[in-house]
Amino acid sequence: MTSLRGRSIGPVHDNGANMLYQHGTLAQLVPGLLEGTTTIGELRRHGDTGIGTGEGLDGELIMLDGHAWKVGADGQAIEVPDDFTLPFATVHRAAFQFQCARDDIGLEDLNARIVEANGRANTFFSVIVRGRFSFMKTRAVVKQKAPYPPLEAVADRQAMFLAHDVTGTMLGYFTPPMFNGAAVAGFHEHFLSDDRSMGGHILDAVLEHGEVLSQVFDTLVQHLPVDDPEYRRHDFGGDRIAEAIARAEH
Ligand SMILES: [Zn+2]
Repeated sequence: MTSLRGRSIGPVHDNGANMLYQHGTLAQLVPGLLEGTTTIGELRRHGDTGIGTGEGLDGELIMLDGHAWKVGADGQAIEVPDDFTLPFATVHRAAFQFQCARDDIGLEDLNARIVEANGRANTFFSVIVRGRFSFMKTRAVVKQKAPYPPLEAVADRQAMFLAHDVTGTMLGYFTPPMFNGAAVAGFHEHFLSDDRSMGGHILDAVLEHGEVLSQVFDTLVQHLPVDDPEYRRHDFGGDRIAEAIARAEH
């Protein structure tokens, strides 16, 4: 008989810090399934940190320390209430580990180094970078009204924001390539400046000086809007999800 002593036979953590919770999928946004099917209050039951988008692609959301901020097409960051609804969001309980400090590094290099340092291209993880950015380029989509258009039609209805010498927090999630569609493969990163004057979905950045922290997950909880009639009815067969995501998100 094999002894189980010394072996882990159940969840190693009991605080949920090993768990990534996602509501909806990025694939749903492609054909325009943009109905808000969860709320900030509900998401907060699963985490205190995260990113997402509002109903009808209403702004770029970032949750830090349990507070959810929305950057809309006007560029302003406003804190949103518990009943604010979202079609797509990713949250977790923060328990970040210090990885390194970095100076003068562009976003692409920074992301490549983070994956390298983690040694985990096949694992979901979160990254948070706090520091000063000599350059930050973000976007926020213009809120759409029902009946919602497909994601590609919306991609050109977005506002772009540029900032120099801005201090703030970059929060992102890394999705392994095999999960492309559930989320965008690779990094999805949002930003919020410390003075709340700038933020959004990060397109490009240069980190002047900052600390990089990461948190690895061994469990993905993928929650679906099973009661949303449009989601139940929709046939994703003709949506060419991977191509549409690649065009809209990069
Ligand atoms: Zn985003």
